[in-house]
This record gives sequence, structure tokens and C-alpha cells, in this order.
Amino acid sequence: MVSVEGIDARKWDQIQPVYQEFLEREIDSAEALEQWLLELGQFDAFVGETGSMLYVEMTCDTENEEIKQAYLDFVEQVQPELAKVGDLLNRKLADSPHADALDSVEYNVLLRDTRMDLALFREENIALGTELTKLGQRYNEICGAMTVDFDGEERTMQQMGKYLQVNDREVRESAYRAVGERRFQDSEEIDELFDKMVGLRHQIALNAGYENFRDYTFDAKHRFDYSPEDCESFQTAIEQICVPLMRDIDEERRAVLGLDALRMWDMGHDVKGRSPLQPFAEVEEMVAGTSRMFHRLSPELGEFFDSLRDGTSLDLDSRKGKAPGGYQLQRDHSRKPFIFMNATGLQRDLETMVHEAGHAFHSIYADHLPLVDYRSAPIEFCEVAAMSMELLTHDFLDEFYSPEDANRAVREHLEGIVSILAWIATIDAFQHWIYTNPGHTKEERHQQWIELGERFGSILDWSEFEEWRKVGWQRQLHLFSYPFYYIEYGIAQLGALQLWLQYQIIFVDVRDG
Ligand SMILES: [Zn+2]
Repeated sequence: MVSVEGIDARKWDQIQPVYQEFLEREIDSAEALEQWLLELGQFDAFVGETGSMLYVEMTCDTENEEIKQAYLDFVEQVQPELAKVGDLLNRKLADSPHADALDSVEYNVLLRDTRMDLALFREENIALGTELTKLGQRYNEICGAMTVDFDGEERTMQQMGKYLQVNDREVRESAYRAVGERRFQDSEEIDELFDKMVGLRHQIALNAGYENFRDYTFDAKHRFDYSPEDCESFQTAIEQICVPLMRDIDEERRAVLGLDALRMWDMGHDVKGRSPLQPFAEVEEMVAGTSRMFHRLSPELGEFFDSLRDGTSLDLDSRKGKAPGGYQLQRDHSRKPFIFMNATGLQRDLETMVHEAGHAFHSIYADHLPLVDYRSAPIEFCEVAAMSMELLTHDFLDEFYSPEDANRAVREHLEGIVSILAWIATIDAFQHWIYTNPGHTKEERHQQWIELGERFGSILDWSEFEEWRKVGWQRQLHLFSYPFYYIEYGIAQLGALQLWLQYQIIFVDVRDG
């Protein structure tokens, strides 16, 4: 066993000798290879947890320069070395004459992933990847610099979001116009930047021996269990099932609002003009109520949730200096999950709490597995654990709400699922088209986006805004920095809905006779 005692994994010179030993170790049997994998996994878990905790500390206190520097040092000095040594270790595994003698049930997935990564690797693609990262940063800069003068102040696009949710229709419309106009100013530069990205990605695929970037990406993302054609079928299913439902929901919205036509600024506010749901005031109320919900859903999940209330595993309140957003991460060495979020008392916070708890349950269920690689799942399944908890806790929202408000929360959640599936299909179909038609012009791209809007979009009246509509895709960050990463959420949502359906059949039918 490799000892981690006395090793500071924030320092490359302290962990390098350990990795060197792994690289040089003589492996003369399948058993020795298995032992090597297990020990390497344990050491990776130790180093990984060190990096994770630096990230946790930084996100919990972004104003602390010392913590920030420690994290940046790790990212800049340790992580690149880890990537290099990781590649060498993968080669050692894949080249080992004993690899094929490993138990195929246990090791098939690991070997398949490793061999695919090695098969795709091309030295000349590293520089192209760096170029893409820079273009992605440029995209972030362009979007980050967008502000508008609104309601007496200069405001960012994020800050403008709340004006699209107010009950005053005139305010919403002028907010929509201000944001749309500002975005449109930079649309040509973003189009040009995107052309460059598409060209670079196509070249990466050609270099690796693929016909196009779509096919390359399916292998690079280890999508061994579904194909581009499966994604197209999924898009069609969404078109046939979700899109009509979404249009019915929006038609009802139009009728309730008493409008002749729904405009783009009519979608963000409460249809009955009510103020936002407020499930709790203090974070401790949220935690206690969530615990009660999980205990009622399943005593085991309730206990798992309570095990997180140990003083080190939750950082939930919103406070100055904390990074935005929410996440769960597993501390692989100590085998304990950690949840981070910024709760301010909204329904969205409760959803995040339940969602991240679902990820934590997944981590707990997997934490006994010997191979550290197997303790995390592909995103398509990780999100099933998280999204299903959002659905399965519907019945217990009375811990926070009156029956009427609980109903409102459930309805908003379910309607949101219908429309997000339609949006996921739009983004996925758009990317399939982009990368299988790499020589397309800007005008063809705009035309394609409009066509997909007709196919998957709702009943919005776009008159007067046709030009803005053509570049609506430019606000979707994933298209720029995470190509093809989106359908995962659709697949996971489908899995979560299936679990929810099973729950209704097995438990609710039994309970209600
Ligand atoms: Zn998640």
C-alpha cells in the first residue's frame, strides 16, 4: 500500500516520486496489475481530494487572496503535471500484456475508456484545443462586458433577468428590448468567433481520422451506449410528445393572461401575478425540512441526508464573498460528499438542495467501490440521481408549503421539465447540423436556427424581432465552450421521469389503495 502520510499533495515535487514509482513498477501478472490499479486509484483519490478541497475553500471565500493563490497554484502547477503523468499511466495500463487477463466484467469499462482516449490522442490537436479555449474565453469576455442602462443604473445581463419576472408588462417589455438590443450589437463578432470554433473543431476531428466533429465527439465523450441516430430519435420523440404539450401549456397561459399573442416578455412572471414562493426564511429551516422530506420518502435516504449535517459537509447560506451557484462533490479520499449552494429563501434554493442531496446519495451509494474511477458515473446517470429527487419529494412539500403553494411549486417544476426538454432538443439538433455541415455560411446557420425554432419552439409571436431571433443561439454558453454537452440533461431527465413513474405505480397506488 502507498502511504500518503506526510505528503502535501499541493506540491508537485512531493507527489511526483509516488507517481514515478507507479510508472516504473514491474508488473508481471494480472494480479499485480490489479493491485497497481487499486493503489494508483487510492493515491489519485488522495491527490484529487486535495484539489477538490482547495476548490471548496476558494468558492466559500473568494475574497481570501491566500486561498485563491493556493488554488491557482494547484491548477497551474500541479494539474498539468497530473494530466501528463495520467497519460503515461494510461499507456502503461493499455500496453500491459496482462490487461486482457483482467476480469472483463470488472475492468471492461475502464479499459475501453482508456484505450479510446489513447486512440484519439493527437499531438497536433493540443494547440488547436488551446486555441479553442482562448476563443471560449473571448466569448465569455464579450458576454461579460454586456451591460445596459436600465431602471436608473448600469446593469449586467444576469441582473436584467429579474426584470423579465416582474408583473408589470411594460417593464418586462422594455427589459426585453434593452437586453436584446445590447446582445444584437455583438452578434456579428460572436458569429465570426463561432465560425472559427467550428473550423478548428472540424480540423481536430479530421486529424484524429474522423469524418466530422460530431462522430469524433461521440467517441471522445465515451458515448458507447448511444449513437447520433439515437439522439435524433430522441429529438423526434420530444417534437411529438413534449412540444405539443408545451404549446398547450403556453396557450393556456396566453388565455389566462388575456393576451392576443404571447410575446417573448410574457414567459417569466407568475401567470396569476402572485409574488414568488418562499419556502423558508433561515437555512436551518431548509435543512430540517429537507431532512423530514427525505425521512418520509425513505428512512435510508433520510439517514444519508442527516449524515451530511456533521459541520463539515454543507455550506449552504448565501453570504458576501461566496462564489455563485451550487454543486456537490465527493471527497474521494475521506469518502464523504460536500454540498455548496447559495440559499436565499426561494423555491429554486429548495430544488437545488434536493438536487445536490441526490448527487450526494449517489456518492454515498458508490463510496465502497474499490476502483476510484467507478465511484463516479457518467453525467447522463449522475443527473438521474439528482433530478429524480426533485420529482420524488413532490409529495412531501407540505413540510414547506400550504397545499395550494405546494401545488404551485409542483406545477412550475413539471411545466419547466416540458419546456427544457424542447430546448434541449433544439440545442442538440442545432449542433448535429452545425458539425455535420462544417462548411455552412452564417446565413445558413441562422436559417437552420429559425427552422429548429419552428420545429421545437413555442407559440411566441416574433414579429418585429426576426433579426434578433436568428442569433438567439448565441446566448447558449454550451455551444461555445462545451460542444455537444447538453443532451445528457435530456437523457437524465427522462431517466428521472421513469423513476418517478415507477414510484407512482408502486408506492402511490399502494398507499392510496
Ligand atoms: Zn446536477
